Amino acid sequence: DTQREAVLEALDNVSTRLTDEKSYLTDLDSAIGDADHGSNMQRGFSKAAEKRDDFSEMEPHEVVKNIGTTLISNVGGASGPLYGGSIMFASQELEGGITTESSVAFAEAYLDKVKDRGGAQVGSKTMVDALVPAVHTYKKSVEQDDLPPLEALAKAVDAAERGVAFTTPIKALKGRASFLDWRSVGHQDPGATSTLFIMEELLATAE
Ligand code: ADP
Ligand code: MG
Ligand code: MG
Repeated sequence: DTQREAVLEALDNVSTRLTDEKSYLTDLDSAIGDADHGSNMQRGFSKAAEKRDDFSEMEPHEVVKNIGTTLISNVGGASGPLYGGSIMFASQELEGGITTESSVAFAEAYLDKVKDRGGAQVGSKTMVDALVPAVHTYKKSVEQDDLPPLEALAKAVDAAERGVAFTTPIKALKGRASFLDWRSVGHQDPGATSTLFIMEELLATAE
């Protein structure tokens, strides 16, 4: 199944990238959090990547769902249930297969779940600041501008990158960083940054 292989390849690439970025993400989290975001993400995605053999008979959407449950039980912190639960929830959109259309539905369902669970909006200085522009750009590029999915994803990555930059000058309103009040200003959000890295690897896998 080529779709399952594509999901597994993306998972490997994300896991490798988060391992490479572990200390960078932890440095970001040490400035405005508790210095564990890099190890949380690395641990969760490595566990998921190790399950490759368990995934070998599953439908693509089931693989995605299982990645979500693995993240829920292995990432921990605030980001574990947000990443894991939202991936799990959004995997339903892929039940009919992975198409351009279902990938848009997946992205929207993922964003909705993150916002719903975490209560963050654009400007709260969280992963939502990367996700909202990325998902909106992806949807618009596919549905209104008729771009091929790869070009739409590339534009979404650029939008996520701008969203990450936007987290630096603003004050955190959600998560641990919000305890710092104005002292969170001037620091880039770790969760927005890991969201960008994951998206970059999805793009690199698709290319
Ligand atoms: P913890 O803060 O519990 O140690 P992590 O360090 O793994 O968890 O993750 C921190 C990241 O989680 C933040 O940088 C932010 O992007 C994200 N985050 C925290 N709280 C929320 C929330 N309520 N909504 C969305 N994202 C959040
Ligand atoms: Mg942390
Ligand atoms: Mg923590």
